Amino acid sequence: MSTSTPHPLDIVIIGAGIGGLSAGIALQRSGHRVRLFDRVPQLTPAGAAISIWPNGVNVLEKLGLGAAIKAVSGGMDAMSYSTLTGELLTRFSLEPLYQAVEQRACPIARTALQSILLQACGPEHVTLGVTCEGVEALADGVRVSFSDGQQIDADLVVAADGTHSRLRNYVVGREVQREYCGYVNWNGRIDAADDLAPSGEWTQFVGEHKRVSLMPMGNGQLYFFFDVPLPAGTPNQREAYRDELGAHFSGWAAPVQRLIERLDTAIVSRVEIHDMPPVPSFVKGRVVLLGDSAHPMAPDLGQGGCQALEDAWVLARCLALHAPDAALVEYNAARADRTAQIMLRARERCDVTHGRDATKTQAWYEELAQETGERVIAGLAKTAAGGGEWLA
Ligand SMILES: Cc1cc2nc3c(=O)[nH]c(=O)nc-3n(C[C@H](O)[C@H](O)[C@H](O)COP(=O)(O)OP(=O)(O)OC[C@H]3O[C@@H](n4cnc5c(N)ncnc54)[C@H](O)[C@@H]3O)c2cc1C
Repeated sequence: MSTSTPHPLDIVIIGAGIGGLSAGIALQRSGHRVRLFDRVPQLTPAGAAISIWPNGVNVLEKLGLGAAIKAVSGGMDAMSYSTLTGELLTRFSLEPLYQAVEQRACPIARTALQSILLQACGPEHVTLGVTCEGVEALADGVRVSFSDGQQIDADLVVAADGTHSRLRNYVVGREVQREYCGYVNWNGRIDAADDLAPSGEWTQFVGEHKRVSLMPMGNGQLYFFFDVPLPAGTPNQREAYRDELGAHFSGWAAPVQRLIERLDTAIVSRVEIHDMPPVPSFVKGRVVLLGDSAHPMAPDLGQGGCQALEDAWVLARCLALHAPDAALVEYNAARADRTAQIMLRARERCDVTHGRDATKTQAWYEELAQETGERVIAGLAKTAAGGGEWLA
């Protein structure tokens, strides 16, 4: 990316998650003046780890952070599925994927990713503990109001304020509701051990419309999660997690039982998974949605964070090549369809895995028993390579 732009802009970014920080880095490298604001007093990401698939790693490489990310992420060389009783359905190498898209996947601790992004963005550009309360269009920019009473005028506001975005309704022009995907996810980290999952392998157990996953996340640890289809609003009581999981996974394979016995419930997150139908536009005037504010999706493709990274890169490229209003039109054209397709595919994957139609889930279990890796890798490669010319 060019390090300067003919018209440096004054840009305010709301939210210092993966989307806000990566946009901050990309926009600063184009020569813009960037200020980020987050409502939390301290940046502590929710969730233990995140799998950054090759398309996300490609953006991190473009931002100059590939080596830093690779140094601390997990080595994930193979993938397997077993039945709930531990009978192997399929196991295959991920090397053909990495060769086809010329990039690896990097599962990484969320704290490590955030720290790398924050350092690259410059902590001095990030103000914590202030909530954006609203925006108002000006003749050639935007006025942003904050909870501490200050107002800031900017040429452009990037709303990277996450799945509960306050600015989304402003951009879309109506109230938009998230939708419950029908399952609860417990996730956390645990010391790696061969009696939980083979080293270097993403290990999954599936059955009864539930799923257990163990993935290497670097630093000698495994990122684990459990998915269970449940009605919305079931009690979330940390002291009950082990018993709850014990009941949901009674009779499952020995590694699943060991995982439940060993997990530290103090560092487990329990999340009701939501997504949203795609919104028609990410842009209103000089306010632009990016990351989960634009496209909260089911995590079943592991693409929410990767798409936030793609958004950040494309927004900065568009602004480097066009005047602001034209750049935002380009950004919207490049990102709205791409992310809508991924949101819909993530929901389809979610529905098949979690038994929305039991016949389809049963057919998937049967497919897995025949899987050589080719079909799964083709799907992963399609997602990784589908970002269009802005990401080439
Ligand atoms: C269980 C689970 C597993 C997942 N696994 C993966 C995976 O493997 N791979 C992947 O790529 N993605 C994954 N995702 C998705 C990924 O976590 C998100 O897509 C990503 O974190 C979105 O980043 P963001 O910056 O858009 O939003 P966030 O990370 O939510 O950041 C938004 C920030 O905005 C701040 N904020 C909100 N409102 C305001 C306001 N009014 N004023 C100021 N600040 C505000 C918040 O405090 C927050 O820091 C997963 C999600 C879940 C739930």
